[in-house]
Amino acid sequence: MVARHDLTTDPGLQEQLLHARRGTAFFARKLNELSDAELDGDSLLAGWSRRHVVAHIGYNARAIARLVEWASTGVETPMYPSVAVRDEEINFGATLSPIALRNLFDHSAMHLSVEWRDLCDDAWHHTVRTIQGREVPASETVWLRSREVWVHAVDLDNGASFGDMPVSVLERLLRDITSAWSTRGTDEGLLVKVTGTELTFGDPDAAVAVAGPLAAVVQWATGRGTDGVTGVDAEGRGIAGQVPAAPKWI
Ligand code: ZN
Repeated sequence: MVARHDLTTDPGLQEQLLHARRGTAFFARKLNELSDAELDGDSLLAGWSRRHVVAHIGYNARAIARLVEWASTGVETPMYPSVAVRDEEINFGATLSPIALRNLFDHSAMHLSVEWRDLCDDAWHHTVRTIQGREVPASETVWLRSREVWVHAVDLDNGASFGDMPVSVLERLLRDITSAWSTRGTDEGLLVKVTGTELTFGDPDAAVAVAGPLAAVVQWATGRGTDGVTGVDAEGRGIAGQVPAAPKWI
């Protein structure tokens, strides 16, 4: 008998699944607002058209579904055979007809949602491996997908912004990014402050902090521009022209 609702009974995971599915619906809405001809236009990502972004999101759902299947069956099925194969697949996908590209997005998202729905509580704890080689519980696949659909919806460059994302998604993104910098030691001399909150990351001895509302800080941290953020000194005074480039994230 096929379940009609998620099998997991973990409320935290149920909430994360909601954010991932809402993000997918948001990406779908932005994609549907684009005409077929507009798919040929540039995305916010250097060297990628909107077609590349859509192909990437479609193949990403398939890759994440492979991890969920791995957790379910115990048979190892990696996200991609290699990074080169992943990149080739995206370049190929970008050449598909508009209808095929839209179907790729729809079908892959539906399939992933069903794989998640049918994964039992126990299997959500099984270990799988991401393309970066990280060993994570299957539950991490929900966040992996969530951040892809929310951020790449902005990359379609037809009106989506970081301000459209749920606060919990923005906060987790910022924690992820700043901890990646800290692991690599690329955040030296850099302090990040979210105005109106207690959220502060990075080097407390930094002379200059990058400050702004949460959505603007996350946009900056992902390398997508400095709109809405300012450099501030230790007293919180603005310093014109003092926003450094964010260190590389992924
Ligand atoms: Zn991506």
